[in-house]
Amino acid sequence: MVDFWQRALYFPLTVLLISLLIWSIFGALPAALFFGAVVFLRMLFNLRKLSALQYWSAAPDLRSVPEDSGLWEDVFSRLNKIMRKQREEREKHAVALHQMEQATSALPEGVAILDESDHIEWCNPLAEAHFGLDSVRDVGQQITYLARQPEFVQYLAVANFTAPLILRGARQDDIVLSVKVVPYGINNKLLISRDITHLERIETMRRDFVANVSHELRTPLTVINGFVETLQDMPNLDNDMSRRALALMGEQTNRMEGLVNDLLTLSRLENSQNTLAEEVVDIPVLLQSLHQEGQVLSAGRHEFKLEMESSAKVQGNAAELRSAFGNLISNAVRYTPQGGNIVIRWNELAEGKVLFSVRDSGIGIAHEHIPRLTERFYRVDRSRSRETGGTGLGLAIVKHIVNRHQGNLEIVSEEGKGSTFSIVFPVKRNLLYCSKPSAK
Ligand code: ADP
Repeated sequence: MVDFWQRALYFPLTVLLISLLIWSIFGALPAALFFGAVVFLRMLFNLRKLSALQYWSAAPDLRSVPEDSGLWEDVFSRLNKIMRKQREEREKHAVALHQMEQATSALPEGVAILDESDHIEWCNPLAEAHFGLDSVRDVGQQITYLARQPEFVQYLAVANFTAPLILRGARQDDIVLSVKVVPYGINNKLLISRDITHLERIETMRRDFVANVSHELRTPLTVINGFVETLQDMPNLDNDMSRRALALMGEQTNRMEGLVNDLLTLSRLENSQNTLAEEVVDIPVLLQSLHQEGQVLSAGRHEFKLEMESSAKVQGNAAELRSAFGNLISNAVRYTPQGGNIVIRWNELAEGKVLFSVRDSGIGIAHEHIPRLTERFYRVDRSRSRETGGTGLGLAIVKHIVNRHQGNLEIVSEEGKGSTFSIVFPVKRNLLYCSKPSAK
């Protein structure tokens, strides 16, 4: 700073001294003229430098920073330094950005950044391919103008991103995408898309395979079963050994038939094309009939009770609901020893939800098994399940049916004390509640 003032004052002081010298020798007028002329020239010089600076600042370029000596040299060299630093920073950012772009392009998933109103801020090449976008042309466009599938538009509008959205036919070629949105920052969203066409194809093949095998097995099994039954009924079959063999064969073919039927039911329920055929299901009437069937199955070994606390009918599929409720009742009978009691209940919960439950005083289930019970072929006690004619698929079927009705399957059980299996239906399925004027 001191250096600056020294250099800044050097020129005016020198001119002043010379002017004083002229004054003492030639008088005041020549001194004033000299002083005025020098100051005027200096002013012109500074104005020229200022104009050069102004001209340069209109389009700053590092290669053409104005040059000079003296005080202006300081200003220009500082400008030079600032410009150089800025250029280095810019180059560094460009390299980092380029690396980021390369990394995101190499991602096996499509990534797009959306603002709070779903306008595209940036997207990588896979996102371009998945949604048919152009990363240059479409920046600033609302993504729902470009990817218009109703389910995708609704997914973004509802903004419940807990589960990914499976999007079929996102573009003309039949690809299946798993789309997930991750909110971040202030209202920004990261849209991540994954091509799962291949996985879907394998899953469909698996489902078709199980369905086809089951279907193929059904006819020969029915034929064998028929012959076994005919042989058992033959009056001249007096050999004990043959009788026992035929009884065993009959038992096993029946079991296989049950298994094949359950596998076919599961395939049908899993088929995404098989949408729920809805109708009005009179649950009280259905439960009366299932109660009687349960008593027949129990053959007097259990005390049965039906607690009908609601007259609610349900919007759903009667055959599927009969199958789900029937499975739970038959399980209660099969896993409750003689003398135990079974209570079937239908009642309304708060806010219009409806609940079906089967409570038994049977063998119960240890808590570590409960989360896995709805897996196919998961059985706590394999031999007991088999002895009572179980296939290990009953609860998997129940779970599917409950999901198709947007319900919840709840299992509460204590080993040695008994179990309660409940199905809770959402309000929209409760026709009694939905027909109330206050519910509208
Ligand atoms: P399974 O045909 O073997 O009964 P499920 O899928 O219906 O197959 O049930 C799976 C397993 O859950 C059964 O093997 C059994 O161990 C257990 N389970 C189901 N219901 C009951 C119940 N009411 N009480 C005790 N255990 C049960």
